[in-house]
Amino acid sequence: MELSGLSVAVIGGGIGGMAAAAALAQRGAQVRLYEQAPELSEVGAGLQISANGQVVLRALQAVGQDIPTQATLSPGTHMRAGRSGRKVAFVPPPSSGATWYMHRADLLTLLIKSAERAGVEITLGRPVTPGTVRADLIVAADGGQSTWRSVVDGPVAPAFTGQVAWRALVPCDPPVAADQPATLAMGSRAHVVSYPLRSGRSMNIVAVEERSGWTQEGWRQSGDPADFRARFADFGGATGALIARAEAVHLWALHLRPVARRWADGRVALLGDAAHPTVPFMAQGACLALEDAWVLSSALAHAGGVEAGLVAYQHARRARAEAVVALARGNAWRFHLTPPWSWGARAVLAFGAGALARRLDWVYGYDATKVFT
Ligand SMILES: Cc1cc2nc3c(=O)[nH]c(=O)nc-3n(C[C@H](O)[C@H](O)[C@H](O)COP(=O)(O)OP(=O)(O)OC[C@H]3O[C@@H](n4cnc5c(N)ncnc54)[C@H](O)[C@@H]3O)c2cc1C
Repeated sequence: MELSGLSVAVIGGGIGGMAAAAALAQRGAQVRLYEQAPELSEVGAGLQISANGQVVLRALQAVGQDIPTQATLSPGTHMRAGRSGRKVAFVPPPSSGATWYMHRADLLTLLIKSAERAGVEITLGRPVTPGTVRADLIVAADGGQSTWRSVVDGPVAPAFTGQVAWRALVPCDPPVAADQPATLAMGSRAHVVSYPLRSGRSMNIVAVEERSGWTQEGWRQSGDPADFRARFADFGGATGALIARAEAVHLWALHLRPVARRWADGRVALLGDAAHPTVPFMAQGACLALEDAWVLSSALAHAGGVEAGLVAYQHARRARAEAVVALARGNAWRFHLTPPWSWGARAVLAFGAGALARRLDWVYGYDATKVFT
């Protein structure tokens, strides 16, 4: 289907919405994007963008063939024991290519430029609810707490996972080595991931603990740095030293809804977290949203009409999203084992980290640009 002349309203200016707007506009659609926030601010922190996300960024011409200056190449991940900081295993980069560390705001800026070059009209400060916008196609990329999802797939209540993620950016002056591996420190019922951002001028921390009885959803709440340090006081080594330096922290109570059964209804399509919210233990939420964006635009281009294109989009995407989300959920308990289970798991990791990494090739080696050719 020729997309020129197709009017599209994209709801949400996050990674998924901006990428979808760019992809559709590049194929000729007239795209308007509505973002409820009055500005596309610095909110956010580090993201790991693996090869399956990078391939879409290149196809969107948001980045060139080389590594963008806004990204740092990850040489792998050190897995460490939380308390002692002792190295347990080294996970090499995936065979499909090394992951990039990026600040979310830098990635969003690249996507905005790509969308604007393709002619997307961006309207800020405009929340759009179902029934208030008209277009040939509506792409609902309004995040994990999507209001559009219930229109497409019926209402579903979020379930608290029992896990809370703390996020912090620790400024580094002088800068730390930008080419150092990420660290995954595994504690008892807690784990901490850290890696450098912006040429080593800061370190990104995501620290996850188990808790009961949390109700508030969303990932932008401010937290108390003293509380953060107290809760992760038993982490030692470089991770412990980093936690001690955190001065501004945010909290994110991890809630999950199942992957939507229906991703499209008539001319409305769900995309990104709105269709498949995930926990961050595979670092794939943004990458899946990028894949969705490319596959949606190419499914429409190959179909005879909008509704047929949306059927093809769901068919191409749902099983993969569900598999990646399930893998991420499984990692929560793998990273949080208590003795004696943790001893066995760490022994397995010590001898088999490379093999484990190879078993994830289906995640990182996926090429969304080849799904409809
Ligand atoms: C701590 C943390 C670490 C993460 N790490 C990684 C990682 O390393 N790698 C990775 O790939 N992913 C990671 N993720 C996941 C990733 O950030 C998300 O999966 C991804 O950003 C989802 O993008 P999205 O566009 O679907 O939703 P969002 O980014 O949530 O964007 C939705 C947008 O829609 C807007 N909106 C909502 N409702 C409306 C409305 N009614 N009208 C208009 N606008 C509306 C919102 O304001 C928002 O801007 C991480 C997430 C967190 C919280």
